[in-house]
Amino acid sequence: MVTYTVRKGDTVSLIAYKHRIRPIDLVMHNPMIRFELDYVVPGQNITLPEHAPSNSKLTEEEDLLCEFGLQQLEEDRLSIEQLGIKASVIGFSVMGQPIYAWTIGTGKKKCFYSGGWHANEWHTSKFLSRFLLQCVQKCVTSDHWHGYSLVEIFKNIQLHIVPMVNPDGIDLVLQGVYEDHPYKKQIVEINQGMSRFNHWSANIRGVDLNHQWPGWEKEAQGSPTKPWPRHYGGPHPLSEPESIAIFQYVKKIKPDYVLAFHSQGQVIYWGYRNLEPPESKEMVNKLCQASSYSAIHTAESDAGFKDWFIKDTRKSGFTIEVGTGTNPLPAQSFTEIWTNNVTLALKGLTL
Ligand SMILES: [Zn+2]
Repeated sequence: MVTYTVRKGDTVSLIAYKHRIRPIDLVMHNPMIRFELDYVVPGQNITLPEHAPSNSKLTEEEDLLCEFGLQQLEEDRLSIEQLGIKASVIGFSVMGQPIYAWTIGTGKKKCFYSGGWHANEWHTSKFLSRFLLQCVQKCVTSDHWHGYSLVEIFKNIQLHIVPMVNPDGIDLVLQGVYEDHPYKKQIVEINQGMSRFNHWSANIRGVDLNHQWPGWEKEAQGSPTKPWPRHYGGPHPLSEPESIAIFQYVKKIKPDYVLAFHSQGQVIYWGYRNLEPPESKEMVNKLCQASSYSAIHTAESDAGFKDWFIKDTRKSGFTIEVGTGTNPLPAQSFTEIWTNNVTLALKGLTL
């Protein structure tokens, strides 16, 4: 019998594939793991089958089947650093976890990509982190990607990218709440005693980070009035450290346009109360063509990040709703998300 002690960020799939076994094998060897998407918590000892080889790196195919949290972002961060690009920390989450940003390119034009706003939308973090890694790799090797020369692209543009705005929330969706979780009491209360967090999109204090931007007052009237798994806009606009970090970063870098990644729906929202500049329409058409996603002018809501950006700067902002299904999308959705969004994100660099 081989014992493995669960680490922060582990999931059943990650542990299984790293040991070259199937998630179902872990369920069969461990009565306390009831199903393949059950939580495993840091410090918990689990049994691996005798034949399981020791911890090894995931193959590309196995990686497609695995979840993506802060631990995985940290691994990508090291890979990107080895290629010569360092991350900066633009702020910290409620639980003190870093919010990472990367800058690549030297162009005058600036764009800002962000993801992982909502806890159960971790696919967007995985997508942006892997997209960034590939961009950096292809700059190093001077390879083309879908016909684009990344070296040339990054002479004309500066890409600023924050793949994971909400690391605490994403960890909660992936690992659940455990005995020594510092916010256990509050989380269980907000979640009405339920122990599953599939539907949780807020940060760890139950504030929706894409529901608390200036313009908040109107939206707040029709939303939950106290911490809630989704749609509570907080006690006032920009009350949460994660939102403040993005606000300050965007004010500092002054992007020409922004793409905020969410899931799901395979659509792109491109307007806000008709305040967007006329070129937004042409830009969204290009993004749709590159991805096969559909353009929708506006969601008729306020208090989102891209809404605030359009209103504050009168520049273009887009919300990309990747994937289709019910959040959290299954890990397998990543294939579609990757296929359609690589070409979208590349097109986004040349708008
Ligand atoms: Zn979202």
